[in-house]
Amino acid sequence: MIGRLPEAVRIREVGPRDGFQNEPEVIPTDQKVRLINLLARTGLRRLEVTSFVRPDVIPQLADAAQVLRYIVVPPEVDVSVLIPNERGLDNALHLREHFNEINCFLSASETHNLHNVNRSVEDSLVGLEHVIGRARTEGLRVEAVISTAFGCPYEGAVAVERVLAIARRLIEAGAAEIGFGDTTGMANPVQVGGFFQVARETLGSGVELTAHFHNTRGQGLANVLAALQAGCTSFESSFGELGGCPVPPGATGNIATEDLVSMLEEMGVRTGVNLTFLLDAVAAMRGVLGRQLGSHTLTAGPVDWHRTR
Ligand code: ZN
Repeated sequence: MIGRLPEAVRIREVGPRDGFQNEPEVIPTDQKVRLINLLARTGLRRLEVTSFVRPDVIPQLADAAQVLRYIVVPPEVDVSVLIPNERGLDNALHLREHFNEINCFLSASETHNLHNVNRSVEDSLVGLEHVIGRARTEGLRVEAVISTAFGCPYEGAVAVERVLAIARRLIEAGAAEIGFGDTTGMANPVQVGGFFQVARETLGSGVELTAHFHNTRGQGLANVLAALQAGCTSFESSFGELGGCPVPPGATGNIATEDLVSMLEEMGVRTGVNLTFLLDAVAAMRGVLGRQLGSHTLTAGPVDWHRTR
């Protein structure tokens, strides 16, 4: 049974960070700037544009400062950057006037967090509490993303109580938004529906709860529908279905923004995004990479009732 759907949702485009980071080659800075400028004119109001990670660890995003300086984004678009730790925050703050949100992250499972950032979950939490506190002092809005919130490739099931206890710590530290990441595409719609219901009841209405699904097993948009029905109105996605976890090899990335927008608009849920402009940006991305993308809507084109009747 279809429950009541929200009238509108917020979408954060994460392709310029999550996507560009996971391409094997480094995309030239001027191409990144061109693509971000295109995305910023599609009606998308939230863009995650880069990350202040160590350039020797992720050379794909070593040009974070240049990207932030050169992009031209309309004032109504929120620009966010990924901050892995205090060192990253220090570097980002030199360019404070070029962004207004930060994202930080940790994993809900010990083993995944250890593999990802070489720290225990508790150590990560303590570090992030400092990062969030300092970012708030600087007037920045903070989203904290909890990866492997719906399952861990090393540990299997992750208890909802554990995820929400981590979320509560991050909210107390000053995060205005908590993202729940299905990092390796293990979530199913029944699980997602139950999760967001409990999350809203437990965490209250004062915090934005955001769903970050991957399409690793083709269940990304089904999970979106389940989250919508449970009252979630904030989503993250990546144009061209870029990005995601490079493990296992060949796995697809985040849900595609254009597929998300197409589905939501067809269901009467407003996104504010012009799908034609967005598909232009996806096609430009395909041109830069010189390969086919996972996007369904780019391949099939938008639903066109005049043509099919
Ligand atoms: Zn992702």
